[in-house]
Amino acid sequence: MSNNFLNTPIEYLKSVGPQRAELLKKELHIFKYSDLLTYYPFRYVDRTKFYKVKEITGDLPYVQLRGKIIHTEMIGVKRAQRFVATFVDETGKLELVWFQGAKWIGEKIKPHLTNEYVVFGKPSAFNGKFNIAHPEIELVSEENTTLAPALQAVYNSTDRLKLRSLDTKGIAKLQKALVLLIKNNIPETLSKTIIDRYQLMSKEDAIRQIHFPQNPEMLRKAEFRLKFEELFFIQLKLLKQKGLREKTYRGFVFQKVGDYFNNFYNHHLPFELTGAQKRVIKEIRLDMGSGKQMNRLLQGDVGSGKTLVALMNMLIALDNGFQACLMAPTEILANQHYETIAELLKPLNIHVGLLTGSKKTKERRILHEKLQNGEMQILIGTHALFEDVVQFKNLGLVVIDEQHRFGVAQRAKMWAKNTQPPHVLIMSATPIPRTLAMTLYGDLDVSVIDELPPGRKPIQTSHRFDAHRDRVFGFMREQIAMGRQIYIVYPLIKESEKMDYKDLMDGYESIVRAFPQPQFQVSIVHGQMKSDAKEFEMQRFVSGETQIMVATTVIEVGVNVPNASVMIIESAERFGLSQLHQLRGRVGRGADQSYCILMTSHKLSSDGKLRMDTMCRTNDGFEIADVDLKLRGPGDMAGTMQSGVLDLNIADLAKDAQILHTARNMVIELLSEDVNLEHPENTNIAYQFSMMNSNKTNWSRIS
Ligand code: ADP
Ligand code: MG
Repeated sequence: MSNNFLNTPIEYLKSVGPQRAELLKKELHIFKYSDLLTYYPFRYVDRTKFYKVKEITGDLPYVQLRGKIIHTEMIGVKRAQRFVATFVDETGKLELVWFQGAKWIGEKIKPHLTNEYVVFGKPSAFNGKFNIAHPEIELVSEENTTLAPALQAVYNSTDRLKLRSLDTKGIAKLQKALVLLIKNNIPETLSKTIIDRYQLMSKEDAIRQIHFPQNPEMLRKAEFRLKFEELFFIQLKLLKQKGLREKTYRGFVFQKVGDYFNNFYNHHLPFELTGAQKRVIKEIRLDMGSGKQMNRLLQGDVGSGKTLVALMNMLIALDNGFQACLMAPTEILANQHYETIAELLKPLNIHVGLLTGSKKTKERRILHEKLQNGEMQILIGTHALFEDVVQFKNLGLVVIDEQHRFGVAQRAKMWAKNTQPPHVLIMSATPIPRTLAMTLYGDLDVSVIDELPPGRKPIQTSHRFDAHRDRVFGFMREQIAMGRQIYIVYPLIKESEKMDYKDLMDGYESIVRAFPQPQFQVSIVHGQMKSDAKEFEMQRFVSGETQIMVATTVIEVGVNVPNASVMIIESAERFGLSQLHQLRGRVGRGADQSYCILMTSHKLSSDGKLRMDTMCRTNDGFEIADVDLKLRGPGDMAGTMQSGVLDLNIADLAKDAQILHTARNMVIELLSEDVNLEHPENTNIAYQFSMMNSNKTNWSRIS
């Protein structure tokens, strides 16, 4: 059976043996043949190019040379022994040095007038001359057909593996031995239709070519094939999951748009909705009326007006006799949502409640009762909403704000809240690239608000060095004189870090010195303050009593103070791009010109510089997210930390957007024709899919 081959324990491979097998398992999780074959190279060295000795410079990573050995010499004794060979071509000479295995290599390499060698290695300078330590060296001869392939794979290795001569070369040797055993024993995983349509290389050829490419074209085809397959099966998993959920759960049908909605829409809307808001409200409404249980992601840049969209859809839930809740990641934000929404709904006589961790027991009990008897129609709160004691009479819609603070697991918990789960709307202001969204939230439908409310002036962003702080202070005084308010944010990477607090408090003191009372009032808010103290300070700022708010990132999410028009970010180099963008979104909410000033020290890494430049260049959250993805890779992006979805083996979400789209569309088409993968045509896919799902170690992370 073909799979016996792939499942063969790695120690069966020639030259592996028990000890190296142990190491391969420990260091690289390579247990069987299939694991080694899918341990792909991370780059390739072009072995078609030959350098001349004269062309060598200090910063070349690897060079390949062709020439003769004119002299060899064993230097030193015993352990300190090294073997030195003098290599020449028409342009000059160079020393090749071996410290290890000197004796063995010394017997192999002899000076010769006509024999030519190909030498490959990393040159380094020593005493003003170049040499290559431990080069690969091969005799050029008619019979020697084992000369290195055009593109040579380079594998990641570890120190412990290298000690057992499993460096990149050693691993390549194992791959060679294994690839030679491939003979119609790697089963195809895709259907003929798909292979034909995209002219994919067969799985077996792709595996061969990825390790030992014949030429760049074959390598490209192999990479495409393997990336496509990887993304295809992830999308299959996500979309099947979605389909299953749609089949298992019926959704509440919100048939009508009733009085609450219409009354609010016609008489109490504080402003004209943007086109994008209208479109998105409709998308959500149609989804909630379709009979399916909605699971939708609402993406919209900071300040795009997601709250209003959520509110209007909650009114539709109420119109259909259901309750709705809105969950926020922080208490401050929950409070703010509560105030905004309670205020907007005042004329409609709707019961809106607030539930946060700091609610008194007695108040809670009353609230719980009102939720259960249905008197309370809209509940706004924090994680406290998840507690089991919180039971609704008939919860129809759950809105989760700023999803990146909530894990996938919490999403699932919300579904379990009722026997028939409510509709779920997740709002995210972290503009994530579409490729990431399709992978992280590939089981959700997506709505995008791609338009800001009118009249907003784009925020002007600039980058200033700490040395120019006085000028920044001057600017702040001007703005305050114009009646504006200012945020100054300090990084607090870990809430517990003493250093960060010291920076924050020092900063606060210097601000208070530069902006003394009674002319100026300065607030401070940070994570270690009691929540009522935080709340008190926030309120002073919101009401305009204080002009400057010194804060840590606790203000990152959602806070809305339209009169605040300056955001100063201290040690901006310590923030990631998406966080900088989030912070900047706190200003620019009113009619005034707003500013964001990024303060950094003169010492700035090239990545840091790129982050500052990107922020100064654009306000477009999606563009910023793309740069972020390229800089950090998907694994480190905000909110994706523990997401195993992103442990891709070969595909790269920053680069392979096109392949991802193709794969996803293919899956959609496939499932529309054969949702259970029962057609004989799809046997390969069905088999591979079932194998992946039975392999818990790889796939449990995904759901
Ligand atoms: P976010 O999408 O970041 O949650 P909010 O819902 O907090 O944005 O809205 C940001 C600000 O824009 C709020 O002050 C809100 O009142 C205002 N706003 C929302 N929609 C509109 C609109 N259509 N026209 C004008 N202002 C709007
Ligand atoms: Mg918001």
